[in-house]
Amino acid sequence: AAKAAGKHRWHRYQPRLHTRMKERHELQSAMDTAIAENQFTLRYQPVVDITDGEAVVGFEALVRWSHLRHGLLPPQQFISIAEETGQINMLGAWVLSQAASDVAGLQRVSASPSSPYASVNVSALQFRDQGFLHKVGDVMENSGLAPGSLQLELTETALVTDPAQTRSVMRQLRDMGVRIAIDDFGTGFASLRYLREFPVDVLKIDKSFIDGITEDSKKLGLVEGILRIADTLGLQVIAEGIESTAQRDLLTDLGCRCAQGYLFARPMTVEQGGHLLSRNGTPPR
Ligand code: C2E
Ligand code: MG
Ligand code: MG
Ligand code: MG
Repeated sequence: AAKAAGKHRWHRYQPRLHTRMKERHELQSAMDTAIAENQFTLRYQPVVDITDGEAVVGFEALVRWSHLRHGLLPPQQFISIAEETGQINMLGAWVLSQAASDVAGLQRVSASPSSPYASVNVSALQFRDQGFLHKVGDVMENSGLAPGSLQLELTETALVTDPAQTRSVMRQLRDMGVRIAIDDFGTGFASLRYLREFPVDVLKIDKSFIDGITEDSKKLGLVEGILRIADTLGLQVIAEGIESTAQRDLLTDLGCRCAQGYLFARPMTVEQGGHLLSRNGTPPR
C-alpha cells in the first residue's frame, strides 16, 4: 500500500518537478547572455549605526536579475543555479566590480567624514576560485573605492568547506585591507574555533534570531550570547532584519551597534542611496 501511495505521489508531482527542472535549465542557459546584456542589477541596503542616529555606515549589494519574461528575479531563484554551473564566478566578479564602482560614487557624494563601505556577498565556491583574489586586488586598485572600505560577506559554509585554504585566502584579503563578515551567523556549522583562528572582522546576526526577539526569552538569550562572544573576540556585529522599533531599542540596549532591516531602509537603487546620503548630510534648517 505504501508503495502504491508512493507511486501515486510520484505521478501527481512529476509534472511540477518537470516544470521546475525545465525552468532551472532555461535560466541556466540564459545566464551567460544575461551577463553580457546587462540584465543583472544591484540594489543596496544601508547598514546603519543604531547608537548614532541611524547614520549610514555601509551599503550591502544585493543582486537581482531583470529577466525579459520573468521580471525582476530575487537571488534565491538563480544563485544556486549559478553555483551548480560555475557561472557564479562570472556573476560574482560582475557584482564585485559593479558594487565597488557604485559605492565609490556614493563615497564621493557622502557628506559624512567617514565614507560608507561596500559589502558584497561572496559564495563559498567563488571564494575558492583561483581568480578570486586577483579580481579583488583589481577592484581595490581600479574602482576608486576608498582604502579599507570593502567588506566581503561569507557564510559559515565557506569556513567549514576547506578551512586551511579559506584561512589562507582570508589572510591575503586582510593584507589588502578587505574586511570579512560572517553572514547569517548562527545558522551554519562553524565552530567558535573558526572565529578565533580566522581573520574575521564582523558577525552578522541572522534575521531568524531577531524575529520574535522581543517576545522570546530564548532568542534574546542567544543574541546576548552572540554579542558577548563578539565582544570577547573583538568582532563587530550587525543585526539583520530589524523590522520594528521595539527590536531596534532592545538591540541598542544590549550594546549592538549596527543593524540592517526594513525599519531603516529596504534595498534601494544606487541613485536612491545617493539621495539618502545627501539628505543625511544636510543640516536641519
Ligand atoms: P543576505 O546576504 O543575508 O541578505 C539579506 C536578505 O534579507 C536580502 O534579501 C534582504 O533584502 C533581506 N532583508 C533585509 N532586511 C530585511 C527585513 O527587515 N525583513 C525581511 N523580511 N527581509 C530583509 P535578498 O536581496 O533577496 O537576498 C537574499 C540572499 O541572496 C542574501 O541573503 C544572500 O545570501 C544572497 N545574495 C544576494 N546577492 C548576492 C550576490 O551578489 N552574491 C551571492 N553569492 N549571494 C547573494
Ligand atoms: Mg549578506
Ligand atoms: Mg544575512
Ligand atoms: Mg540570508
